[in-house]
Amino acid sequence: MSILMVTVTYFAAKYAGTITVESKFTDINLRKTEEFYFHMRYAKLVQFLMIFCLLPIFTFFPQEQQTAYANANLSKVTVIAANLNVREDAGLSGKILGLVHLGDTFEVMQEKNGWDQIKLTDNQTGWVSNRYVTSAKNIEATVEANALNVREKPTVLSKAIGQLKQEEKLTVVFEYGGWAKMESASGIQGWVNTSYIKKNGEKQLTSGTSATNVTIEHPAPAENMAVLNSEKSLKGKTFVLDPGHGGVDGGTKSVAGTSEKTLTLATAQAVKQKLQNAGANVILTRTSDSFVPLQQRPSISKENHADAFISFHYNWVDDPTVNGVLGFYYRQTKDSLLASTILNEVAKSTGLNNDGSKFGNLEVLRNNSQPSTLIELGFLSNQQEDAIVESDAFRENVAQGVYHGLLEYFQSKNN
Ligand SMILES: [Zn+2]
Repeated sequence: MSILMVTVTYFAAKYAGTITVESKFTDINLRKTEEFYFHMRYAKLVQFLMIFCLLPIFTFFPQEQQTAYANANLSKVTVIAANLNVREDAGLSGKILGLVHLGDTFEVMQEKNGWDQIKLTDNQTGWVSNRYVTSAKNIEATVEANALNVREKPTVLSKAIGQLKQEEKLTVVFEYGGWAKMESASGIQGWVNTSYIKKNGEKQLTSGTSATNVTIEHPAPAENMAVLNSEKSLKGKTFVLDPGHGGVDGGTKSVAGTSEKTLTLATAQAVKQKLQNAGANVILTRTSDSFVPLQQRPSISKENHADAFISFHYNWVDDPTVNGVLGFYYRQTKDSLLASTILNEVAKSTGLNNDGSKFGNLEVLRNNSQPSTLIELGFLSNQQEDAIVESDAFRENVAQGVYHGLLEYFQSKNN
């Protein structure tokens, strides 16, 4: 009975929540406080009606039907940021209880002002910003290799925490860069390479070699597989990556005290690695903590006949709540496609807010003969965002986004 009550109350609250949102649009003349109390009363009334009028109806439903109804509405979310703070309350001022990570999946208890209350292990709960989570998938799949390693993180370099056998069933909750976060029928949770699983209702993606013959101890990195399996490639392309600031010019400083110049260099190096792995020729405008004058940077782009020049920066404003990634271009025809494709993919891969790309009268772009963009990779003035962008995992996500952005850029450009 108590489960039924909870379920009904949950629907009542959900239902009331919907009405609240709609009323905001219709009763625009109501003052904020009046609006609040009106909604509270309305919510309470609906809740009352739901419980006392509809309860008898629910009670007469066969048991199976009740269960199905409850399960269909249990929402689960997956974390899409490398690291995400879990707070005691809904809001940036809530005390930080801990961190959750990319691909972690949680049941949502309730939602409030853009925050989700999630159920943690040992029956604890906490709040996360819903900007950094997405609805969890629930895709049934089958292992297609003799043995498939389950890894802690979505990379072959990470520790294998278990192994699945051929034909073993699993449920995929989230996919990221050729990796699937899953739970196996046997209860193992972790990441598997999507090349070696077959999702129900989907055709086998592998071409040429049969996945069952692949030695799983040495799976090809997901990114190389992607290049092999598609026409798109960065092979032979030249990129000039520009880590902002350096030497005496430290750029801005994060709330944690890190200089922008340190983060831009680490980011450019991660991107360089990724693009080199995809067969590209990559040049950095600086490879150490040295001062490189602004006017010299576009010259490096020209001398190397860069197919694209990308400058990396991190942002700062006085308002600690401002967040997101921003892209800049100087010439609409030459630069704007590059700026938007890279920004969109980086926003996707990092889970940060996409603040859009726009014109910027910036020297490294203005004096650049090659297609060029400058990307601001989040706000070091925002405590939550700073915690995300200072992690190694974030830089890997940026690299993944730049890589996909460039693939898309060249494809769009040739169409
Ligand atoms: Zn900067």
